[in-house]
Amino acid sequence: MGDCIFCRIVRGEIPSARVYEDDLFVAFLDIRPVNRGHVLIVPRVHAERVTDLPEDVLARELPLAARIARAVVAATGCPDFNLFNTNGAPSGQEVFHHHLHVIPRRVGDGLRMSIAPESYGEGEAAALAGGIRKGL
Ligand code: 5GP
Ligand code: ZN
Repeated sequence: MGDCIFCRIVRGEIPSARVYEDDLFVAFLDIRPVNRGHVLIVPRVHAERVTDLPEDVLARELPLAARIARAVVAATGCPDFNLFNTNGAPSGQEVFHHHLHVIPRRVGDGLRMSIAPESYGEGEAAALAGGIRKGL
């Protein structure tokens, strides 16, 4: 996609601090890191959501994420990390070219996913689980 910011980074038209590239992916540092060493893993193909990715890209993405996460942990000294992905504006997606975040984490870094959990009424969980099963 012509003016998609991540397509432009993939094509090298916009500079980035690259950490990895292969035939399917480019990975680089997030310009506004949640913690230093925050990496974005971006498929070369333009797809808006994880559910839009071709199967061959999907199959390679998680093994690559695990590999990059190990390298982020080693390089930053942060013992832990989040693997994170947004799909759609309400989920926090700002760049509509699918990407995975690898965010190094340490105790007391202040990052919180603040969630007030909902609860299920009588029979609701079973009905919803059934609906999801039907879609698979
Ligand atoms: P999202 O909210 O869509 O899941 O995450 C998009 C991420 O892309 C954000 O964390 C943001 O800081 C990062 N980002 C946006 N524009 C650029 C850019 O031009 N260069 C880099 N390296 N990161 C970017
Ligand atoms: Zn794109």
